[in-house]
Amino acid sequence: MSVIIQRESGEQFISSAYTTTIYSGLRLVQAETLGLPYVTHAFSTRLGGVSEGAHTSLNLSYAVGDRPERVVENRKRLAGALGYDLQRLVCGRQVHGDNVAVVTSREAGAGALDPETALPAVDGLITATPGLPLSAYFADCVPVVFIDPENRAVALAHAGWRGTLQEIARKVVEKMAETYGTRPADCLAAIGPAIGPCCYEVNHTVAARFTRWGPTVGAKRRGKWYIDLWEANRQVLLDAGIRHDRIAVIKMCTACNRELMFSHRRDRGETGRMAAIVMLCSEGV
Ligand SMILES: [Zn+2]
Repeated sequence: MSVIIQRESGEQFISSAYTTTIYSGLRLVQAETLGLPYVTHAFSTRLGGVSEGAHTSLNLSYAVGDRPERVVENRKRLAGALGYDLQRLVCGRQVHGDNVAVVTSREAGAGALDPETALPAVDGLITATPGLPLSAYFADCVPVVFIDPENRAVALAHAGWRGTLQEIARKVVEKMAETYGTRPADCLAAIGPAIGPCCYEVNHTVAARFTRWGPTVGAKRRGKWYIDLWEANRQVLLDAGIRHDRIAVIKMCTACNRELMFSHRRDRGETGRMAAIVMLCSEGV
């Protein structure tokens, strides 16, 4: 199914790699290629929550100055829409680093209702435990969801420009290989909504650090540098050994889609956070 995204400029963006679906009043984005019966995944949008002002309306982060009771209600709505237990949601304290946490039942509920209990300093989460929803939070940074169908493991990465340069997505694949025996060639990956090369202007110093991926990742337009974090992360996934036909890139720019997406850059830091969620379904489901 193709989806047409209307940009503020009036330009229409068409992709066949994902669907947007309304679940219980929330509009969620899902990669078609990750549609396996034993995995639940989604990228949330800003629609369907109770937060107000700059956080209107489905802000899912405790760390952006929103009222905690609203974040809890928003998190309950997302859990209800996707059918997982909020009490078991696992969250990391994201620091734009490259630490990857192996998540088991012991970590169930970390950061779900109290940000103080989030796993410290991690930007990657992996698990092979069913019924354990992994989450990460975004407003321009790149979410990457992984599935290893052979070993029944799932993972998430949070890759802003720093995490991209540290190749967090490759480190997630390596941790899966080390922990579950994952073969990268078996993996499926999807790069979710994030700021696109249309809007992601960076200074010369940052742009220079992206030259390792060649001219498709950085371009100068009218004297300014723009970086393609989608493509940089796709290259990282290829380098990690994931096959090109198993990588979906949801080319939806957070900054271009004001109605659907929070964008830290566009909103000058005063904004909410969307979530990426992935979970192995419980046995027998
Ligand atoms: Zn854009």
